[in-house]
Formats: sequence, structure tokens, C-alpha cells
Amino acid sequence: MSASLLIVEDEEKLARFIELELLHEGYQVKVCTDGRDALLEATEHPYDLILLDIMLPGLNGLEVLRRLMRERPTPVILLTARDAVMDKVAGLDAGAVDYITKPFAIEELLARIRVALKLHPANVGRSASDENSDSEEGILRWGPLTLDEPKRRVTVSGHEVSLTNREFLMLKVLLENTDIVLSRETLLDKVCGYDYVGETNVIDVYIRYLRSKIDDVFGFRMIRTVRGVGYVIQAWTDS
Ligand code: CA
Repeated sequence: MSASLLIVEDEEKLARFIELELLHEGYQVKVCTDGRDALLEATEHPYDLILLDIMLPGLNGLEVLRRLMRERPTPVILLTARDAVMDKVAGLDAGAVDYITKPFAIEELLARIRVALKLHPANVGRSASDENSDSEEGILRWGPLTLDEPKRRVTVSGHEVSLTNREFLMLKVLLENTDIVLSRETLLDKVCGYDYVGETNVIDVYIRYLRSKIDDVFGFRMIRTVRGVGYVIQAWTDS
């Protein structure tokens, strides 16, 4: 299965040019010319890579990027203007994997796309048959739940669960430490970083989100609350 790319670019001639080149390379391609449409498209459908212009009608590319990273993290290459250094910095801070300055040679863009797809194989070629051929590197399992860190993907019995970055990280930390009760402080350090300034009850909020997306949907009791201590996922048993 070929990788699917979303081009978000309001200069229609440029968008069309990139689209034709990418189709020629064998990618699946869709084009959006408006930031708001792009955000909707990219949160509703899984893309392997998004090429995102910054100056866009509807919603600015950086804002599209920030919201996308919360809703459905996807590798993004920014298409930036020559002198927009701050845009590049802000874009990389917001989670873009790379940027390319306009005007660019199409060969350079194609090379960067190949690199990004290789380094960030979010959805490439995924199918049920891939599940079993995965190497176990970076894969955590808990009964029917699989957390695939390289692909940044969580599935329950093959159904994908869409998690934000912090929810994903929280689940990963708990799964790496099954049967160990983790305090809110420990989770906060691991999920939000040591420099996080705020209340530990933010952890309770993430736990609630995880339960609403996994336990409530699939009928589990995965994450246990240990009163006065913290949270734990017990090792899976079939009984
Ligand atoms: Ca533009």
C-alpha cells in the first residue's frame, strides 16, 4: 500500500504541481487549499504525511499544526516562506518533523518526503496482516490492547484508539510498569516532564480521558486507582 499524503497549500498552481509529482511517485494524494478544511480532513482521516503551508486562508498553518498534534498527531513537513525564521522555529516546536523553504526544487521535496516517511512511519502500509509481522521492538501488549510506539498507535482487537500525545505517553508508562503503582508525581514527571509547573490532578484528568476512550468503549477495567497512592495497570491475565 502506498503512503497517503495531504497537501495543504492555497497557491493552487503550486498545489497542483506538487500533487502531480506525488501521484507520479505513486503516492495517494489529496489537496486542501484552506486551513480549516485541512484540519478537518486531517483529523478525520489518517495520513502518513502532511505538507503544510503556513500562510493559509481559514486557519493559519501553525494553528492547524498545533490543533492537529492534539487531535491526531501526524508527521508534518512545513512549506515556509524564505525569511520566516520564526515560523520555522514555531513550527518545529509545535511538532513538525521538517520544513522546506519556498521556492524549492521538487527533487528536494521528494527526498524530504522519503526521509520523513522512513523516520516517522505513522500509518504506512498498515493492514491486519502487518500486525503479526511487526517486530516486537517498541510494542507493548495487554490482552487485546496493543501499543505500538514506533507507529504511535494503540489498537484494541484491531480497532484504533485515537489518543493525544500525553494520553499515549501516560498509557505507555503504565504499560511499561504493570503491577507497579505509580504515584501522581511520578506520572507527572514522566508524562509532562520535570519542568512542568502545575497541579498533579492534571494526571487524574488524563486518566479519565484514557478510561473514557478505552475502558468505557471496550468494557475493560484497565487502569486501577489505588487510593491515596496513584494508578496501576495490573498484568493481563486471561481469567
Ligand atoms: Ca500560502
